[in-house]
Amino acid sequence: MSLYRDEGVVLRTQKLGEADRIITVLTKRTGKVRGVAKGVRKTTSRFGARLEPFTHIDLQLHVGRSLDMITQVETIRPYGEALVSDYPRYTAGTAMLETVDRLTLGEKEPALRQFLLLVGGLRTLVEGEHEARLVLDAFFLRSLAVAGYAPALSECARCGAEAVRAFAIAAGGVVCGACRPTGATVPAAETIALMIALLRGDWPLADASEPRHRTECSGLVAAYLQWHLEHGIRSLRHVEREPAREPARESPWAPSGEPVRGPAWEPARGPVRGFGPEPAQDPHIFRA
Ligand SMILES: [Zn+2]
Repeated sequence: MSLYRDEGVVLRTQKLGEADRIITVLTKRTGKVRGVAKGVRKTTSRFGARLEPFTHIDLQLHVGRSLDMITQVETIRPYGEALVSDYPRYTAGTAMLETVDRLTLGEKEPALRQFLLLVGGLRTLVEGEHEARLVLDAFFLRSLAVAGYAPALSECARCGAEAVRAFAIAAGGVVCGACRPTGATVPAAETIALMIALLRGDWPLADASEPRHRTECSGLVAAYLQWHLEHGIRSLRHVEREPAREPARESPWAPSGEPVRGPAWEPARGPVRGFGPEPAQDPHIFRA
């Protein structure tokens, strides 16, 4: 009884006891799952290197009281092998895994679009057709859109006016002159056009962009993502939590080492006003 099978991407691993590991996997149907891999740190392990981060696997698990037990693993595609030899792509891939882990705090809550986005992002990184930084920014913008946090890029995030100039992270994206809060940055129009292209998957435009606009785009996207992630994590403190069924786990990405427990942070807001380009229903944005 209680066996299930799914495919997923390994997000991270943690040591458990002398020879075991807890493997965090974002699966296609089940959502994020943490499973115990017994004996995986022994050289004779039957799992071999299949349970390393980045690996797209087919796995079978046995439902446990708190953690499920991984009983079988087959490799679908070992993205890590291709990434590890290319530092910019490897760091971009690591940032993708971290972001997915942060955006899907709830375990066993299906996150199909996020899963498809991750697989598409890793495949695009490995294929190497586009600069790693562009792929990562496209992935960040798309992940934010899937989580309900797409930045407004074509109309004022506050009033919907079309004449926009500044970018204000806390306001939710571009803002008009009247709504512009102090401290809003004024990026180049080409930078906003690049963000729109990355959100839409318009690779010809993105690939033709100038380095200075890519740099400005990366800075804005990273700050916008960070703001939403911190906001989300911070909001956990105001939520009454269920008694934990297991000891709080260490989260390498929790601020100040504060343990993160389920239940999940749910994006509380709907799409911001002046949503900008509607994200395509097909999450395979990485196909040009
Ligand atoms: Zn406005």
